[in-house]
Amino acid sequence: MLRDDMEAGETAEPTLRYAHSWRIEAFGAPLAPHRMPAPEPQGRELLLRTRRCGVCHSDLHLSDGYFDLGGGKRLTMAERDIVPPLTPGHEIVGELIAAGPCADLEGLALGKSYLVCPWIGCGRCGPCRKGRGHLCLVPRAIGIQRIGGYSDRVIVPEGRYLIDIEGLDPSEAATLACAGLTAYSAISKGQGEKDDWLALIGLGGVGSAGLQIARGLGFERIAVVDMDAAKLDRAMAHGAHWAVNTRETDASARLRSGTGGIETVVDFVGSSQTAQLGLDVLLRGGSYIAVGMLGGKLQLPLPLLATRAITVRGSYTGSLAELRELVALAQVGRIEAAPVETMAHARVNEALDKLRKGLASARQVLDYD
Ligand SMILES: [Zn+2]
Ligand SMILES: [Zn+2]
Repeated sequence: MLRDDMEAGETAEPTLRYAHSWRIEAFGAPLAPHRMPAPEPQGRELLLRTRRCGVCHSDLHLSDGYFDLGGGKRLTMAERDIVPPLTPGHEIVGELIAAGPCADLEGLALGKSYLVCPWIGCGRCGPCRKGRGHLCLVPRAIGIQRIGGYSDRVIVPEGRYLIDIEGLDPSEAATLACAGLTAYSAISKGQGEKDDWLALIGLGGVGSAGLQIARGLGFERIAVVDMDAAKLDRAMAHGAHWAVNTRETDASARLRSGTGGIETVVDFVGSSQTAQLGLDVLLRGGSYIAVGMLGGKLQLPLPLLATRAITVRGSYTGSLAELRELVALAQVGRIEAAPVETMAHARVNEALDKLRKGLASARQVLDYD
């Protein structure tokens, strides 16, 4: 692999000495190949050889360098102290190949493959102390602030962030760390019963995972909303109970007429239009959960928030405990795997481009094996 990187006079296998990665070297530019000495795990750290890494929509925001806040406003990565060079990739399955001198290897084995929980916090702030490292005040996530799975070597700070995936396909397991976890945590925030209507808006990678997870959790009434008829047809064939195409004249009326109103809406798109639709179809006492970050604003008259007694809540990835729950559900066969397309890691820019143009029909996963 990558033998063209070998320098004159070298005889050793170069991949043992070097880490090869795809880096954001400037916002808005394609990712560039990069080579550096392979990292040595220090203290409690562990070193993994990347086997698979999922390509997530947020990798696009990272490479663009901003989020769209609507009305021409942007939240830049630089404002969050996230500046190039950056090595994305937070859906990682890797083989444990080395451990630091103080590493806790209980329950772990060198040579075995694990899913990485990338949502790493400081361990000291309020959210971290409540087990919510993904909401840390000074996050150090793998694939955002730390070097991620677009590198063939990844350092994980502690063994507790590795999850056994015995029995699972590595490509499918990789997608659980963000697409799966994001959907699982968001759906779990709904307050309805299993026979109340749950609406999933947006059937991209996360939304499709959400449909399978909702079924695995036992939801009996699931409505799906998208602008792509083929995605809606596939969702109906995979267990959805009502489908609404937002290209139709009145998606809100059609959603209400088919369901009688929705208890929980999970919005995997996050645009002004999908937020409006989600709020319009909620029953009194229902919840609108915002996950997607396409961009835009929420318009909501405050008196209606009170009289309709609705909850508007955001959800961002999920906790380490939730990821362990989700992997366990997948291992007992409760969750049908979302479709994945595994490709050679060198095709990363092509994968990002497909995602940007909305042409990815399955979660794309980079392969390093
Ligand atoms: Zn992600
Ligand atoms: Zn923290």
